[in-house]
Amino acid sequence: MAFTLDGNAYSDLYAVLGIGHSATKDEIRKAYRKAALGCHPDKVPESERGTAEIKFKAVQQAYDILYDEEKRNLYDTHGIDVFDGSGNPGMAGEADLDDVLSQMFGMGAAGGMPGPGLRGNRSRKGPSEDRKYEVSLEDLYKGRTVKFASTKNVICTSCKGKGGKEKATAKLCSACGGHGFKKILTQVGPILTQSTAECTVCKGQGSYFSPKDKCKKCKGLKVIEEKKMLEIYIPRGAKDGDRIILEGEADQVPGQEPGDIIFRIVETNHPVFRRAGTNLSATLDITLAEALAGFTRVVLKHLDGRGIELTHPKKKGDILRPNQVLKVAGEGMPHKRGDERGDLYLTVNVKFPDEKWTPSPAVLEKLKEILPKPDPLIQANAVDEIDYDPDADSDDFGAGDPRGGSGWEDDDEDDGPTQCTTQ
Ligand SMILES: [Zn+2]
Ligand SMILES: [Zn+2]
Repeated sequence: MAFTLDGNAYSDLYAVLGIGHSATKDEIRKAYRKAALGCHPDKVPESERGTAEIKFKAVQQAYDILYDEEKRNLYDTHGIDVFDGSGNPGMAGEADLDDVLSQMFGMGAAGGMPGPGLRGNRSRKGPSEDRKYEVSLEDLYKGRTVKFASTKNVICTSCKGKGGKEKATAKLCSACGGHGFKKILTQVGPILTQSTAECTVCKGQGSYFSPKDKCKKCKGLKVIEEKKMLEIYIPRGAKDGDRIILEGEADQVPGQEPGDIIFRIVETNHPVFRRAGTNLSATLDITLAEALAGFTRVVLKHLDGRGIELTHPKKKGDILRPNQVLKVAGEGMPHKRGDERGDLYLTVNVKFPDEKWTPSPAVLEKLKEILPKPDPLIQANAVDEIDYDPDADSDDFGAGDPRGGSGWEDDDEDDGPTQCTTQ
């Protein structure tokens, strides 16, 4: 159905006919005749025909709904959107006019006729509000309910979204002819494009109340700002990109079902754990002595605060090597449903002794004695004793070699442009 976009000129059917909310059937009929006559496309100059047609259909629609008691009641209680796809038999809109309308107001057919389902559905609900919400891995692991204060626009309770005093009637905006939008022609090179912009006089409403008629509470804005506590529940196992939808909590707009607030979860980086789906990974820091001799201790604190204790070796004589990976089944992230959990992968990082470790020569000799011996001596005819840099950079390996891996490709690239310039 038509005339429902945010800030649309014709969402207020009473304003379209220029009548108050308490108008009788008789008053509605009279107002309709007067309005329809005033904007009948056949009675205006050619140049104004397009606008008149739109207005005429809006008047027709307003009359169709308000004159029918049942429909009027529906409109009063639910706004214009309930007529979406209801099969309400209005006058048949021409296809091209529908296109104009849908471009201008994002709506379907005009004149009280329900638009095609697809288009109609889009305008039934007000715009949704997207928000990012950063969540720690701990909270995603355990699940959490978060409460916070938020402000939103709600329909003014004093005027019920009319914007004016009860008996007052909104004036049609002459600046935009009641459309709430103005057409703007822009020339870009040889192309003339047409766009629409909100009318600044009526702020896209198509009509407005004179200062003395404005609702005192909302100052004619139809809505007032209200503080509300919102509560969102982050289910355990939720992940980055998941959406939590608070239905109908977005700003209220007169004549529209309020849109949703959609929270998109952004998972913050964790200092210890990395996550992939339901799996977690972390580094297992152990000393060289532990790698060789084993240990039983808490190796890390899990996301729920539990200490994770590990005993090594599992089998007598096993040692842990750098970058060895241990899989701990069932200690990953919880699945969203059920009690299952993913797995935890621990990558071994052997911390070799640093410069603070200064054992006596006797201790070192003892170590050599204890630990496995080197391979048999290499036999050579001549032996050079050499010096070396103990802190070299492996990136330097191969660097500066003119016959390095990319040499041939560089030659080809150089040839390319030369050939082109001779053509
Ligand atoms: Zn108000
Ligand atoms: Zn205007």
